Amino acid sequence: MYPAQFDYHTPGTVREALDLLARHKDDAKLLAGGHSLLPAMKLRLAQPKHLVDLRKVPGLSGIKEDAGALVIGAMTTHYAVETSPLVKAKCPMLGQVAGQIGDPMVRNMGTIGGSLAHADPAADYPAAIIALGAEMVAEGPKGKRTIKADDFFKGLLTTALAEDEILTEVRVPVAAAKSGAAYMKFPHPASRFAVVGVAAVVTVDAGKVSKASVGITGAGTKAVRAKGVEAAITGKAADAPSIQAAAERAPEGVDVQADLQGSEDYKKHLLKVFAKRAMEAATASVK
Ligand SMILES: Cc1cc2nc3c(=O)[nH]c(=O)nc-3n(C[C@H](O)[C@H](O)[C@H](O)COP(=O)(O)OP(=O)(O)OC[C@H]3O[C@@H](n4cnc5c(N)ncnc54)[C@H](O)[C@@H]3O)c2cc1C
Repeated sequence: MYPAQFDYHTPGTVREALDLLARHKDDAKLLAGGHSLLPAMKLRLAQPKHLVDLRKVPGLSGIKEDAGALVIGAMTTHYAVETSPLVKAKCPMLGQVAGQIGDPMVRNMGTIGGSLAHADPAADYPAAIIALGAEMVAEGPKGKRTIKADDFFKGLLTTALAEDEILTEVRVPVAAAKSGAAYMKFPHPASRFAVVGVAAVVTVDAGKVSKASVGITGAGTKAVRAKGVEAAITGKAADAPSIQAAAERAPEGVDVQADLQGSEDYKKHLLKVFAKRAMEAATASVK
């Protein structure tokens, strides 16, 4: 199917893009990599009258280090994150997440900002962004503001971004000393979206987990922090029995949805299995 008619805009600056959003309000949609929006437009699930393409806006893509954080432009593609030497050195888990998204075409076109703003319940980045304690920088008519990952995902395909705001960058803290991180997912066999995905970041001191941060995607309507897992593993030995016991609490706080991929019970089971695998891999990677 073809999309409905729309006007196509190519702003040259963030300010111009913001002006277009302010002028056309609900009738406008930002276009990044197009790998979520264009399929929705072709199915007429989205019918924006104005498409505001961010691809010609300079300064929105690229990865640099600043004040203990990786600063990733919203228009940075999944492929650029996957292959960035800086990401590999400072936050390898994020590169691993990017490398597991879809297929090469999706990774070449899709962007980190588009993925986070779209907030697909089965997207990979959201779990990692929560576990890593990242912050999103949004620019709107009143200037810039920063949104913590824990406050960003509001519901199904819904974020804290206002309709007149643009996500401009993602700030990801560089890995701390004595920490390790991993992302494990059960991919949908066709799309590779996460049926269930778990990202874990742990700090291990003298054999004990002194800090744990775990994000979950796929099973519910939005990505969430696995608070039960975090509470259960913190202060415990970084060993198999403690990890197993903590992983049992993975479904807590997740509004698990039954769908074509599986029943509620099956998804809860997957959450436990993948929480265990993510924590095992995270503790094994501690340096
Ligand atoms: C076949 C296929 C397989 C896929 N598999 C996976 C997978 O395994 N894992 C996964 O996580 N994802 C997967 N995806 C989704 C893919 O990662 C998309 O690239 C991503 O969800 C959207 O990014 P985009 O840059 O293409 O955004 P677009 O499609 O251009 O935009 C998506 C939405 O975000 C808004 N938006 C975009 N940029 C901004 C911004 N800077 N500020 C505010 N709003 C913005 C747009 O207005 C739109 O509403 C798959 C997609 C396809 C087509």
